[in-house]
Amino acid sequence: MASLFSRLSAMSLLLGLMACGAPGVNTTDASKSKGVKVVSTFLPITLFTEAVAGDCADVTALIPANLGPHDFQATPSDLKDLSGANVLVKNGLGMEEFLDDLISSADNKDLMVIDSSSGVATIESAEDDHHGHDHGHSHGEVNPHIWLDPILAVQQVENIRDGLVKADPSCADGYKKNAELYTAKLKKLNTKFMAKLEPYKGKTFVAFHDFAPYFASRYSLKAEYLVDLPEMNPRPADLQRVAAQVKASGLKALLSEPQEGKRSFNALAKDLGVNIVEFNPLETGSVESAKVPGTYFEVMSSNVNNLVKAIGD
Ligand SMILES: [Zn+2]
Repeated sequence: MASLFSRLSAMSLLLGLMACGAPGVNTTDASKSKGVKVVSTFLPITLFTEAVAGDCADVTALIPANLGPHDFQATPSDLKDLSGANVLVKNGLGMEEFLDDLISSADNKDLMVIDSSSGVATIESAEDDHHGHDHGHSHGEVNPHIWLDPILAVQQVENIRDGLVKADPSCADGYKKNAELYTAKLKKLNTKFMAKLEPYKGKTFVAFHDFAPYFASRYSLKAEYLVDLPEMNPRPADLQRVAAQVKASGLKALLSEPQEGKRSFNALAKDLGVNIVEFNPLETGSVESAKVPGTYFEVMSSNVNNLVKAIGD
């Protein structure tokens, strides 16, 4: 961490010098209609921010969509993005652990930070007594995966809307209209999920890492998981615990993630005679999908379809 910090500090100095060396060269900016530069952190935050920004602001994703936020390491180009931004939108709740150092290194006094988790009722992270304590990538005490509950996502979008309206009042009506359209879709999605998952109330499902407490709570389901964080390897005790849960609940499938879980679940699924289906926690995606706010609805609908397959009917 110390080396990252000093690297960033050196870069910040360099950028400062570059800025001094080119006074008043703003002609390219002046020809642009979009006045506000917005940086978002990772995939769901980028989708929500793109949805609200619409034609009013440019959105740049800090973390490339194909990389997950849990093990993200900032680079000098991330610092450059932040140095030139007006607004930074984050999930919050400790999800973006790298961000505080990056923000102080960017030394951008005018940067407005929007914490999309503001006011959201949180759930504590599960006790990780089945893992060592110093794994180095702790989520913190609060579970940060609020975006997987469409109703909490509404709150996140509204926080982003309020922040952008404050940062750029010239497009206030645009931000409000965009947010209204997107939150209406989120509420509709929730209604659809409520109906679809109603028959499975109280049932248990097993995911790879600890991303599902908010989603499970919204639909009265119980979420179990193999590991706390995506980059972890399960211990034999974890595999035994999950095996017992699968047997007790009669699950038909384990829920893996696009980039994680299959390797760990393969042998277990074979042993238990169950399938593996995907529940994508939206921590990663393709660069193209990050530009399309509708990606959220597509992925979540597919998640719920797979979940129903896993619980079985
Ligand atoms: Zn996660």
